[in-house]
Amino acid sequence: MAPIDTSKKSIVWVLGGPGSGKGTQCDKIVAKYGFTHLSTGDLLRAEVKSGSERAKCLTAIMERGELVPNEIVLDLLKEAILARAEESKGFLIDGYPREKSQGIAFEENIAPVSVIIYFEASSETLTQRLLGRAASSGRADDNEETIKLRLKTFLDNNDLVLAQYPDKLRRVSSHSTLFGRLSNFQLAVCSLAPPSSSRGYHKATK
Ligand code: ADP
Repeated sequence: MAPIDTSKKSIVWVLGGPGSGKGTQCDKIVAKYGFTHLSTGDLLRAEVKSGSERAKCLTAIMERGELVPNEIVLDLLKEAILARAEESKGFLIDGYPREKSQGIAFEENIAPVSVIIYFEASSETLTQRLLGRAASSGRADDNEETIKLRLKTFLDNNDLVLAQYPDKLRRVSSHSTLFGRLSNFQLAVCSLAPPSSSRGYHKATK
């Protein structure tokens, strides 16, 4: 049975190509809404750093810009969600699902998704942004060759993922202003979980 009760905690999947800015946008709203931001890329990089047994196969796959086995991603996500389930008002899951089967597995094993936010951007924009940050990111996969592969992996899977959830999908253009992106993102999250400090909103109850 799914261990998270989404009548109390919203689950938001935040999707977009590499370089779409989804992580930055998540950081801006977590504090405001008391949500927890979990990035599967960050969870995987932390796992690689830990040198655990299950991390052994990850480095090579990530350096090729391919998807790592879903059992590993799903286990990491589930552990991270359950560890924070008590105190969190909801979760922004950034970078998951990246293929259709991942979405199905998440809903079967963790919880049904409440809303999906997709940051749209052209391949040209994504490539330029990634190349721009490559010099300072310190990430092994921010090089021209791997950027191409990451983009290909994204383009190969993304339409199928989005098509699976037409009613829950909210699109935010990565080309609009920072303010516009943030407002649209907030609107989608706000419809689920109003900030407890704002007047006119009800406090989230546990
Ligand atoms: P990007 O913005 O390029 O997608 P991330 O930090 O989100 O960067 O992910 C880095 C790498 O971690 C991906 O290229 C992929 O190898 C792996 N990864 C992240 N999320 C997932 C996922 N949901 N499923 C499989 N692999 C993933």
